[in-house]
Amino acid sequence: MTRARLLSGHVLQYTGNPFTTPWHEAVHILENSALLIKDGQIVELGEAARAAAPPDTIHHDHSGHLIMPGFVDAHAHYPQTAMIASWGKRLIDWLNTYTFPEEMRLADPAYAQAISDRYLDLVLDHGTTSVASFCTIHPGSVDALFQAAEARGMAVVAGKTCMDRNAPDGLRDSAQSAYDDSKALLQRWHGTGRARYAITPRFSPTSTREQLQALGALWAEHPEVLMQTHLSEQVDEIAWVQDLFPEARDYLDTYEAAGLLGTRGLYGHAIHLAPREIDRLSELGAGLVHCPTSNTFIGSGLFDLMGLARAGLAVGLATDTGGGSSFSMLRTMAAAYEIAQLRGEAVHAAQLLWLATAGSAAVLHRSDEIGSLAPGLAADICVLDLGATPAIAQRRREAEQVWDAVFPTLMMGDDRAVAEVWVQGRRVRGGN
Ligand SMILES: [Zn+2]
Repeated sequence: MTRARLLSGHVLQYTGNPFTTPWHEAVHILENSALLIKDGQIVELGEAARAAAPPDTIHHDHSGHLIMPGFVDAHAHYPQTAMIASWGKRLIDWLNTYTFPEEMRLADPAYAQAISDRYLDLVLDHGTTSVASFCTIHPGSVDALFQAAEARGMAVVAGKTCMDRNAPDGLRDSAQSAYDDSKALLQRWHGTGRARYAITPRFSPTSTREQLQALGALWAEHPEVLMQTHLSEQVDEIAWVQDLFPEARDYLDTYEAAGLLGTRGLYGHAIHLAPREIDRLSELGAGLVHCPTSNTFIGSGLFDLMGLARAGLAVGLATDTGGGSSFSMLRTMAAAYEIAQLRGEAVHAAQLLWLATAGSAAVLHRSDEIGSLAPGLAADICVLDLGATPAIAQRRREAEQVWDAVFPTLMMGDDRAVAEVWVQGRRVRGGN
């Protein structure tokens, strides 16, 4: 048994989905309140937390800071950590020029381990406590990330990226080896501690029908795991998919025909969707993952966040490292806000915070463990300093109510705003 800890400050609480109910009914900031944690879990929040604190509770004063769930990044490529912010290309050229040569390097298990450690340390620096990441075609790249996550106590989703065409020598598997390797990895890792597996075809252009079908068969055998891939990111890519799969009704149909469309599916980007695709994703409750910094950085387009989320589709938020240009979910929320503005919509700070935590946790089917501050959930916590830089601090001083004090940090903040990070009740950043 460990001693309880009481974190006092502004506490972020969710009671609903702020896209399908009015945001002020779903998201609350309990001002000058508290959060009680013990044995790696959240015990209580609000005034009940103070009342429930045992006499030997250790107090952590975060007055004026926002105590919130750790960020959940629902789509990333940890192997691209070392080539983030590479200049001048769009999707297909960007993959060939920058991504594939770097992913090749992860054939070396020692390099995969070094990048896994570097990546998870960087995301923790930015207040992110859970990620869903693509790996490379090398099974060792999956072991490396799960081992690094285990060492840090982090809840991570990952899977071996499968590609058996339109990728260079050294980065192609086959339909059979993708099936065999993915099966062995999911049996080894899924449900081991906080590790969860996702079957991971990169996207339809780099998989043959045979490979997609083999992975669909594996998913049918193991419906408890997730499936993550990409969908309708760029217009050129969609035309390429039409050439490669002339029989398909649309991009989503290339997955659907192979048994790779389901409730536990995660479809990254999903920018240029046809009405049929939206209907199918909605019917199944499949997860869409919005990657706004990536969409602007590689020029993909403007995701319809407000339209899709208001229609009840499950949407998470992600950096898409290293197609995205930042490890920060603060920067990612700012980009989501900007893209919505270009579509004529204003996303509220409450909606952005929910999306970056509870929304992402929901598409990962882990809402019972992460993404919210609620009794019984893991004590995976980010404490945000709402005046971390002089520019933000002077703006906050003008704020008349608490949401005005929060929004500047979402728009202008970076890792300097992350005062503390806790994973399973253990402080892993800050607290000097
Ligand atoms: Zn991606």
